[in-house]
Amino acid sequence: MEASMKNYNEVYEYTQKVLGIIEKADVTQEEAQWITNETVNGFRENVNAGFLDYRKSVTKGGQYASVEWKDAGLNCFVDVNGKEYIDCLGGFGIYNVGHSNPKVIKAVKDQMNRQPLHSQDLLDPLRAMLAKTLAMLTPGDLKYSFFGNSGTEAVEAALKMAKIYHSEEGRSTFIATTRAFHGKSLGSLSGTAKGVFRKPFMPLVNGFRHVAFGDIDMMQKTMHACQLVGEDVAAVIVEPIQGEGGVIIPPDDYLAKLRQLCDDYGALLIFDEVQTGMGRTGKMFCAEHYGVTPDIITLAKAFGGGVMPASATVATEKVFEKLFDNPFLHTTTFGGNPLACAAALATINVLIEENLPQRAAEMGEYMLNGLREAAAEHGDKVLEVRGKGLLIGIEFVSDEIGYEVAKGFFDNGILTAGTLINAKTIRIEPPLTIEKEQCEKVFATFAKVLKEVNKSVLV
Ligand SMILES: *Cc1c(COP(=O)(O)O)cnc(C)c1O
Repeated sequence: MEASMKNYNEVYEYTQKVLGIIEKADVTQEEAQWITNETVNGFRENVNAGFLDYRKSVTKGGQYASVEWKDAGLNCFVDVNGKEYIDCLGGFGIYNVGHSNPKVIKAVKDQMNRQPLHSQDLLDPLRAMLAKTLAMLTPGDLKYSFFGNSGTEAVEAALKMAKIYHSEEGRSTFIATTRAFHGKSLGSLSGTAKGVFRKPFMPLVNGFRHVAFGDIDMMQKTMHACQLVGEDVAAVIVEPIQGEGGVIIPPDDYLAKLRQLCDDYGALLIFDEVQTGMGRTGKMFCAEHYGVTPDIITLAKAFGGGVMPASATVATEKVFEKLFDNPFLHTTTFGGNPLACAAALATINVLIEENLPQRAAEMGEYMLNGLREAAAEHGDKVLEVRGKGLLIGIEFVSDEIGYEVAKGFFDNGILTAGTLINAKTIRIEPPLTIEKEQCEKVFATFAKVLKEVNKSVLV
């Protein structure tokens, strides 16, 4: 009864109106107002009003209702009212090759015009070509790729690969690290470290332990204890540099020692490079800084070039061969679809053509120094500015100051990452294509905002 009473006319009219808006590159003031109202109301009534509270926490005045609209060059975007922002958040690391990179867009459009999605049954060419490209590109003997649509899916695949690899031996213990972030689906959430994200969803996947990131002794003791009690470790999963945790860089020899430990105990090593991969830290993959090759690497975020959602789980033959007998043991309908593969292939092409990992190293150095200089006289507010390449964190002495600085940046047309849970460290993670002049605007704004914080929060 209820269902048949729904007014399809109303739905049709509404979708027709929205399609008319999508068509437009630019909107009138009146349309902008309509879009803003529909967006805010839609979030309140049908998405999640909590997002509005979050936006209020990182913006001043009515700016929480800023609605994004279009990209403006590689490093900026524009809201529906025409205000331009330098993107220093980079979508939490999705825009390594910039916003709307023309080469990525072209590849996706060309593929879209020919065939957007595949039959699901015949052999699809781009999946093979992207897998071959990754075998050539990734460190060491990583060779076979499974494709998904998101970071959490890449991590799920990695965990399942580790399980099936050890299935005969029955090993199923995983070690992750404190402050780790691996995603929010039930498997990857088991590896994620943050209590607030995990607690409401207990019990998670069995067999996960967390040890302090960067502490190799504790890792060794835990692996040893697991062995003693007959719960041998199947795999250790780490981000080579922790992103969400607040840009935590491990001791220089940590990852090499971790590799050795895993070999000694017969455990696999998984590097979650969802955020550190694709040039972000100044090398194509963060693992290269440390000369360590994992058994499995996960990629997502920037992997689709900021145009398509795409992820990959790349493993050595030794690990991946367990899936040869029955490739249907782990599948996903949209993973490795032609649009995503086209985007990833173009992204890798652009990263190499423009030498973007090297650029990330250089601009990262420039950004780090500039931010440190701006913070120099504000030791009472800024604890540390740290980073590698263009993965940079600014740690404040308190959450409140972090919120104030994020607000100040936003007010001045610079997007950074403050979070509802913790603004103590805000991340600076712009496209690797960011220009010097744009960095200078960031430095000047940071200095100015830090001065203003004095008046509002410290008193
Ligand atoms: C963002 C992130 C994920 C999760 O990716 P989603 O696409 O949001 O599922 C996993 N691991 C790391 C290191 C990340 O930064």
